[in-house]
Amino acid sequence: MHTTISDGKLTPEELIKLAIEKKFDTICLTDHYHFPPGFRDWGNNFYLDKDYDKLFDLKNKYKNKIKILVGVEFDWLKDYKEWITKAAKKKFDYKIISLHFIKAGKEYFPIDYSDKTFQEILEIVGSIEKLVRTYYSELRDAIETGLYDTVGHMDLIKIWNENHKYFTEKEAWYNEEVNKTLKLISKKNMNIDLNSAGFRKPCKEQYPSDWIIKEALKLKIPLIVGTDVHNAEELEAGLKEVSIKSVV
Ligand SMILES: [Zn+2]
Repeated sequence: MHTTISDGKLTPEELIKLAIEKKFDTICLTDHYHFPPGFRDWGNNFYLDKDYDKLFDLKNKYKNKIKILVGVEFDWLKDYKEWITKAAKKKFDYKIISLHFIKAGKEYFPIDYSDKTFQEILEIVGSIEKLVRTYYSELRDAIETGLYDTVGHMDLIKIWNENHKYFTEKEAWYNEEVNKTLKLISKKNMNIDLNSAGFRKPCKEQYPSDWIIKEALKLKIPLIVGTDVHNAEELEAGLKEVSIKSVV
């Protein structure tokens, strides 16, 4: 769940009140943590220490009405391991690690920003297989640290893959990367974010895909349902669909 602490539209208190109104009994706020100094000129004011303290105050203020977990979504950035590792040692109720940025050439590109940006990355990296392998291998570096509870939108790399225009998930190399990642998640006793935001994107499917959910369940990896809400309309968006899929 995202609020005005990072890129969401509602303040934490507005979101909490809405969740109470919609009869949620537990929620977990997971705003994006700010980026390392010098990384980019956007997001430097996301989730600072003062926000963290404010969230614990809210958790306390509403404790008789709703259980609030003070979580966070960290970004894994390959050149900033030390900074991120230090930040992740801070105590949170729930820590998500996500990979939104891939370094192609000398620059970092957000893979989920637009299809056009995705194509730019693809051109620099050279092939979709290389790009996908880079994505999962960097994600595994993050998982390997053992600092996080959950992998956020694990197969975000499929976001622009409408009608499988970039790859099919049946390719042997795709299976290999996903299965390696799942094994590591299981070894590190982490869980997976079962995220309905994918329904609202061109891939039109939750993260992760059905077959990945099945493999994860075989490995007894817990799945934590979330809607990745950034505004009021998204609070419950896809929640039922995604919950049903997880048990099929
Ligand atoms: Zn994310």
